[in-house]
Amino acid sequence: MGFAALAPALGASGAGQEPGAAAAGGTGLQPTEYALPPLPYPKDALDGFLSAEILELHHDKHHAAYVQGVNKAIADLADARAKGNFDAVKGITRNLAFNGSGHVLHSLYWNSMSPKGGGDPADAALKQGLEASFGSVDGFRKHFGAASKAGEASAWGILAYEAVADRLLVLVAESHQQMGFHGCVPLIVCDVWEHAYYLKYQNRRADYVDKFFDVINWKFAAERLAAARA
Ligand code: MN
Repeated sequence: MGFAALAPALGASGAGQEPGAAAAGGTGLQPTEYALPPLPYPKDALDGFLSAEILELHHDKHHAAYVQGVNKAIADLADARAKGNFDAVKGITRNLAFNGSGHVLHSLYWNSMSPKGGGDPADAALKQGLEASFGSVDGFRKHFGAASKAGEASAWGILAYEAVADRLLVLVAESHQQMGFHGCVPLIVCDVWEHAYYLKYQNRRADYVDKFFDVINWKFAAERLAAARA
């Protein structure tokens, strides 16, 4: 699967490297620090769905904290190896999964929405995939909406590609890293933590999820599906 092609949207710093260059050149892994990617649109671009104030807090404070957290976990693990002391490895590994998943999901979330989004997918492969896996595009919307609204406490709704059976799935992540289906590639994610919507929607998570479909970025999903199936 084309994970290298997916990395640029995930905030890997990788300055000067072409996607896939390391694999193609056989030069091996070149791990980089995780970095906060800029929002792909101005902070007021989704006004009407989410205010600039919500996006600023969510991106500049919440997402930034997960980037710091995953880099700290990586550093803490290096420190443990250097000292030969793994007494704290269980907790650090949990921090790695929580913050790393939080960083990846937020990077996908900004791109899962677009001021030009909404409607039905234009891409034939994505549309066919949604019909094959959910009966129809509307069938997907109903399933994804219900799952996102039902996510317990702090959670995510996720449209994912599963390669073993070549199908699309709706998953829910509790916290950031719980209830995963390993190997699935997330295509579209909807953050249903209260910090994503509370300043505008208060306790009305259902209204926020229903409006998410007005900005859903089908183009991004289609690009990721094509890369994941390549
Ligand atoms: Mn969030």
